Amino acid sequence: MAFVTRFAPSPTGLLHRGHAFSALTAHRAAREAGGRFLLRIEDIDATRCRPEYEAAILEDLAWLGLEWEQPVRRQSERLARYHADIEALRERGLVYRCFKTRREIDIGRAPHEPAVPYIGSALPADEEAERLERGEAFAWRLSLAAARSALGGFEGLSFLEQGAGPGGETGLIQARPETAGDIVLARKDVGVAYHLAVVHDDAAQGVSHVIRGHDLFEAAHIQRLLQALLDLPTPIYRHHGLLVGPDGKRYAKRDKAQTLRELRAMGMSPADLWIALGVAP
Ligand code: GLU
Repeated sequence: MAFVTRFAPSPTGLLHRGHAFSALTAHRAAREAGGRFLLRIEDIDATRCRPEYEAAILEDLAWLGLEWEQPVRRQSERLARYHADIEALRERGLVYRCFKTRREIDIGRAPHEPAVPYIGSALPADEEAERLERGEAFAWRLSLAAARSALGGFEGLSFLEQGAGPGGETGLIQARPETAGDIVLARKDVGVAYHLAVVHDDAAQGVSHVIRGHDLFEAAHIQRLLQALLDLPTPIYRHHGLLVGPDGKRYAKRDKAQTLRELRAMGMSPADLWIALGVAP
C-alpha cells in the first residue's frame, strides 16, 4: 500500500509549536516510509478562516523545512463535492433538517455541564414546509438511527490505531459514533461540517495514514461512520500526544508567544525547534 499522509491545518490563526510537532511527525513518517506528504488547507468555515493565516501557514511550514506536493488542496474550492455527498446521504434518508438552535438544544443545561449529544428526527412534512417557507435556518444532521439501520448496527465499524488516543487506546478500535449524537453535516453559515470534508478529502487524496494530535481521536469514531456510509476506505490512524507548555496546558492558537512567527522573531532557528520538539523533518 502506498503511504500517503497529510497535515491539514485550518487557517484560523497562526501555527504554534503543537502544529509544528504534528506537521513534522507526519512529514517524517512519510519520508521514512518512502511515501507522500500532502498539505491540505481546511478553510470551510468562512466565518473564521483568513487568507493571511493561510499565507502564514505556507511560510511557517517552509521555514520549518517541510516540503509538500503541489497543488495544495483547499477545501473552500470543493464545496460542491461535499454537498453532493450530503445529497447522496439525503436521498438514502440518512440526514434530516434540524431547525433547533444550539440554545434551544441546551435549554436546562447548567453552564458547567457538558453538552448532551443531540438526537432528533425530521419534522412532519407540513411543519417543515412551513418553516422553510418562513425562511428559518436549519442544519442537516446525520440520523444515527437511520445510519444504524442502513449498516445493520455499528458493531462492524472499527479502525486501526497505530498511535494512541488520550486514554491510551491503541490497536484495533471499535468505533463508537453514537457518543456524538446526530452530528451536523451542514449549516447555513458553515456549508459543510469538518467531519464530512475530512473523510471526503482523505479518500479523494488516497490518504493511507492520518497522523494528527489525539485531540482528534474522538473524531475518528465519527469519521469511521461516515466512511462506511459513503463507502470510502478507512485510513490507518496514528494519533499522537499533545505538547504542553511550561504551565502544563496545551498550546493554543491564542498563545501568541508560542507561535512559530514569534519563535522565529525571537531568533529561534528551525534546527533549534526540531531539537526542542524532538523531531526533525
Ligand atoms: N483541520 C483540523 C484542525 O486544524 C485537522 C483535521 C485533521 O487532521 O483531521 O484541527
